[in-house]
Amino acid sequence: MVKPIIFCDFDGTITNSDNIISIMKKFAPPGWEALKDGVLQQKISISHGVGEMFSLLDSDLKEDIIQYVKETAGIRQGFSDFVEFTKKSDIPLYIVSGGMDFFVEPLLNDLLPVENVYCNHADFSQEEIMIEWPYTCDDQCNHGCGCCKPTIMRKLSTKDQYKLVIGDSVTDFEAAKQADFVIARDRLLEKCRTEAIPHKEFETFHDVIDILKKM
Ligand code: MG
Ligand code: ZN
Repeated sequence: MVKPIIFCDFDGTITNSDNIISIMKKFAPPGWEALKDGVLQQKISISHGVGEMFSLLDSDLKEDIIQYVKETAGIRQGFSDFVEFTKKSDIPLYIVSGGMDFFVEPLLNDLLPVENVYCNHADFSQEEIMIEWPYTCDDQCNHGCGCCKPTIMRKLSTKDQYKLVIGDSVTDFEAAKQADFVIARDRLLEKCRTEAIPHKEFETFHDVIDILKKM
């Protein structure tokens, strides 16, 4: 494998479960589920659906949400070993997340530099939480991704690099299509199977290290 570069999802990939879903389950009034279903069924764009979901929440909830995520979001087994492995092997590792900075960054702080983390920004200055999208789609993507993973991949990688995507959901699918190889679980794994995208399955990051070592 020549010059690998890794783009890794956050929610449900680095963490055991999806933090947006668990935040909504805990804090949102009824109505958020229809938005979630719309996003997962790809009937509405990610940025529209997720933006609307967060607008259901009062900005006052900020500290409670951060506390809740810190207490409940488990980091998937082997992740810190995986980060070490990429450092030792000199493989660039970027986290590309459809999540929000206020809960993504505190969970990754001790593990890798914040410059390697790409996610959305939550603004708490209004009555309801407003999501800002610093990494929207470039002119080659029209999926309304919110945090556009394919756009970030185009920006950060060169043609001669071997692009690996690690992810778990339909929200990683556009990135997976751009990748040379995908390491997947859950819904993304099903997608890779049905769409015949070159991939391997993982459950822990020790699996990921093994896959990379064998390449
Ligand atoms: Mg995910
Ligand atoms: Zn996009």
